[in-house]
Amino acid sequence: MERNEETSMKKQKAKTKRAAAQTAQSKRPASGNAKPAGTNPQRVSEILEKLDEAYPNVTCALEHRTAFQLLIATILSAQCTDERVNQVTKSLFAKYRTPKDFAYANPAELEQVIRPTGFFRNKTKAIMGAAKKIVEEFAGEVPRTMDELLQLPGVARKTANVVLGTAFGIAVGVVVDTHVIRLSNRLELSSNSDPKKIEQDLMTAVPKEKWILISHQLIWHGRKVCQARKPKCAECTLEHLCRAKDKTV
Ligand code: SF4
Repeated sequence: MERNEETSMKKQKAKTKRAAAQTAQSKRPASGNAKPAGTNPQRVSEILEKLDEAYPNVTCALEHRTAFQLLIATILSAQCTDERVNQVTKSLFAKYRTPKDFAYANPAELEQVIRPTGFFRNKTKAIMGAAKKIVEEFAGEVPRTMDELLQLPGVARKTANVVLGTAFGIAVGVVVDTHVIRLSNRLELSSNSDPKKIEQDLMTAVPKEKWILISHQLIWHGRKVCQARKPKCAECTLEHLCRAKDKTV
């Protein structure tokens, strides 16, 4: 009888423990905290190796000569191709040369120059607001920290990461654009759809010294091979590592 009681108490304790574990599991946020399926270090290092082989020296496709020009070009690239932005910035940067030129521009004139990039009214406000803050609060220099960059109108983490990584070589995060979102999901580096959570997943899975390069590599791979509608899986050097549901081979 005593032994039976002891056994039943043990069973009860085990049951309570299991229930507590299940509750803790269900409360875990659906963010980068739970490790995505494809992020074991061996697999990630194979992906990085293949990307290095295919895209050893890639960088940002937006043409610029200064950090300020890159900031403006990145703001213009929202919902627009880099090719179109590069066409527009040729004449834009010839006409407006300094942060002051942008800060105190005639908005209607600036709108007409950047019109081909779309959303030109909002972009004009963002560009002029960012330029004004840079002139009046940062002595005319693009700030070099995430916190300061995020204070500029029109600048969110993606733009700040582009400027920090490409213009200054500072790795604070990973640039997550539409290509990086799609490829991170297909390659199981993240199971999230929110760019902030994907960035966290990539920062956890990928060594910090690769944060700047991997975003450029994923963007180039997304443009050339792993396209949204019809990925060219037969040409893809990552094919043997990829278990994407929409693979075409
Ligand atoms: S195999 Fe296909 S889906 Fe997978 S990464 Fe390559 S191109 Fe993209």
